[in-house]
Amino acid sequence: MTATTWLITGANRGCGLAYVKLLLAQQSTTVVAAVRKPPLSEGLQSMQQAHGDRLKVVSLEATSAESVEAAAAEVGRDIGALDYIVNNAGIIGTGELDFGVATEDQAAEPLESIERCFSVNTLGPLLVTRAFLPLLLKGNKKTVVNISSGSGVVTWRQQAAAASEPAPIVFKHGIGYAMSKAALQMQTAALGAQLKEHGLIFISMDPGWMDTGLGRQGGKICDLFKLRGDPPSAEDSAQGQIEVISGLTPADNGKFLNFHGEPNPF
Ligand code: NDP
Repeated sequence: MTATTWLITGANRGCGLAYVKLLLAQQSTTVVAAVRKPPLSEGLQSMQQAHGDRLKVVSLEATSAESVEAAAAEVGRDIGALDYIVNNAGIIGTGELDFGVATEDQAAEPLESIERCFSVNTLGPLLVTRAFLPLLLKGNKKTVVNISSGSGVVTWRQQAAAASEPAPIVFKHGIGYAMSKAALQMQTAALGAQLKEHGLIFISMDPGWMDTGLGRQGGKICDLFKLRGDPPSAEDSAQGQIEVISGLTPADNGKFLNFHGEPNPF
């Protein structure tokens, strides 16, 4: 197996932490785990003890250009090149924007929550990709993975909007999250088109519903526990994601894939 180096944002817990754990279990990988702020989670601390030679932890606040650029400078100095950037850090909004006609299954989402979703979920990956691009260009795989969500699939909401029956509850909430992830799909496609001459590959990844802080929050907002039971573990999803990512080719540039490698509609 060829040696590869991965940057994972939002690596202190949830899906990001699952990536770090699974990647370090492969003997040939080096991982840069970007965390928003100390303290490090127990999981990351124990990986640092076990794999300190192949794990670098760096501070990165995805909404701050200054923080992202400082992290890139530090990684450039200490690691030099990256093969993969996984823009995983993300947040979910608080509910639904209140248009004054909310039904009882719709909670109000303040505009600030929607702005925050765009700031972390859409602009964050852009800042990270821009700052770390020089390191990616020095690597072999030259791949950016933007972790998105099925919530960001426009087609499914269009179908719900056009259907004669009421929309499923899952489509009645989290407009800020959904819009921020749909815009992320465009970012993936746009950068994929703009930068492919440099050998870069960009994809969006739908990890599916996962048992994480965000997954449980989303499950509560959208009543998913009643519909689907408990979510699968983040490790199951991350395992699939890593396999899909490891097999990407230039023909995948710009795509939106799920963690089984199947294409999602836009
Ligand atoms: P978690 O809430 O478990 O973890 C999110 C991570 O992102 C945390 O480590 C958090 O840092 C970090 N983060 C949040 N805001 C920032 C910021 N401003 N700057 C830097 N890091 C930040 O979420 P998941 O692991 O579930 O989510 C990972 C990705 O998967 C997200 O992009 C999410 O949208 C996506 N996703 C998740 C689904 C699910 O069911 N869980 C479903 C579909 C998509 P800190 O620990 O400091 O708070």
